[in-house]
Amino acid sequence: MYSVNTYSVCERKSSTFIKIGKKRFDVCTKSAVGFAQKAAMYYFCALYENDFCTCMEQVKNAVRLPAFVDMHVHLREPGFSYKETIYSGTRAAKRAGYSDLFTMPNLNPVPDSLEHLQVQLDIIGRDAAVRVHPYASITVGQKGKGELVDFELLAPHVAGFSDDGRGVQDEGLMREAMVRCREAGSIIVAHCEVDSLLHGGYIHDGVYAHTHHHKGICSESEWREIERDIRLVEETGCRFHVCHISTRESVELVRQAKRKGLPVTCETAPHYLLLCDEDLREDGRWKMNPPLRSRQDKEALIEGVKDGTIDVIATDHAPHAEEEKNKGLEKSAFGIVGLETAFPLLYTYLVKKNVISLERLVELMALRPREIMRLGEPKDFIMVDLEARYTIDSLQFLSKGKATPFDGWEVYGVVES
Ligand SMILES: [Zn+2]
Repeated sequence: MYSVNTYSVCERKSSTFIKIGKKRFDVCTKSAVGFAQKAAMYYFCALYENDFCTCMEQVKNAVRLPAFVDMHVHLREPGFSYKETIYSGTRAAKRAGYSDLFTMPNLNPVPDSLEHLQVQLDIIGRDAAVRVHPYASITVGQKGKGELVDFELLAPHVAGFSDDGRGVQDEGLMREAMVRCREAGSIIVAHCEVDSLLHGGYIHDGVYAHTHHHKGICSESEWREIERDIRLVEETGCRFHVCHISTRESVELVRQAKRKGLPVTCETAPHYLLLCDEDLREDGRWKMNPPLRSRQDKEALIEGVKDGTIDVIATDHAPHAEEEKNKGLEKSAFGIVGLETAFPLLYTYLVKKNVISLERLVELMALRPREIMRLGEPKDFIMVDLEARYTIDSLQFLSKGKATPFDGWEVYGVVES
């Protein structure tokens, strides 16, 4: 329905035009913008607004795109408003071009009952600047074990179910969760992690951990649980989305699951595509879970993005207070902010470097999340100036969280307000 792959750019002596199906759109090439880029921009205009020539004249180098959808954010409210609030987080998102956010349930109270969920919905109704769709937890208290929530009761009121922050450890419990989730017609959005394989690690168990004497988190702690859960999807038929994959084994497992036609999708985040453990510094801003993996993992993730194994790029926006992030790699809290850097980073370091096309990035950040979360056709559009260049400065973020390893990076792409 949103397939964006059939257009051709034609150059003739006197004119340049783009053909989409049988329609022909003339292109005026006055601007200094590179031709390929310009073609892509016109293509989007033509797709989403017939009156594209007017729109191009008005905004010079800006392109009209469907607003972004983030399937994985932590807005921290209720319970942790010193880190972020619905108010601050959604304003950061809006400025960055997002129309819809899906929020993780590691809150207080945890949205594990209608009553607890209502606390969050009230704040959303009062303060949100974009649409916010909460996930309920899978287990009561989001403990990754114990008792399951009431899927049937909660499903009509939430976007799906997640215990993000921890994996559901027990196989029998996860099987039961999938059976009930499928019966309720919902989706499980899983943080996959085997606790018993962590051994107190806090960065990737690789070259940096070994040379700097840190405790490592092995890749197996992630892919083992993905492997188990894919097996359970095969048994139960539950719709299943894997959060923030970071290892090459995870990419391969999801690739195989898709080949089998299983209802499995997955996401990764910008930092796993642009950084690896060789980039680590003795600084909490480089600490998140899952951790930055090896260069080979990063390359496998990029392959997964290119071949469609990876459906979505989410941010895993996880703000913390400054004093929680300035304690170095070992002692800082896990998590970095991502809403206000995702598009410019990915546009600059993947699209402009010809790793993926702009249309593929739009699929990953706007179209595919809408399909997976059944939001229907794009309703909101943004104008992005692709020529505007700036330096990332976390002090300018609207998010209360400032911890990002991308501070000081040069990027292109400003969402016009
Ligand atoms: Zn997670």
